[in-house]
Amino acid sequence: MYKKTCPNCAGDSYSASSARWICPYCKTDLSRQKPLPAGSAPGITTARNNGETKALRLIPGKG
Ligand SMILES: [Zn+2]
Repeated sequence: MYKKTCPNCAGDSYSASSARWICPYCKTDLSRQKPLPAGSAPGITTARNNGETKALRLIPGKG
């Protein structure tokens, strides 16, 4: 399983083969992009919040 990030729309796409790769979002040809192995490192997208207030887009509603 490989992963590529589209340089045009920054969308992540996954495929089992890197032979031919078209961005599913904007149809950019990603065949020349270097594929990254996906799913081999657990928790690779772990984000750390170092006491930083995270801005969430919460819509205030009346409970
Ligand atoms: Zn794209």
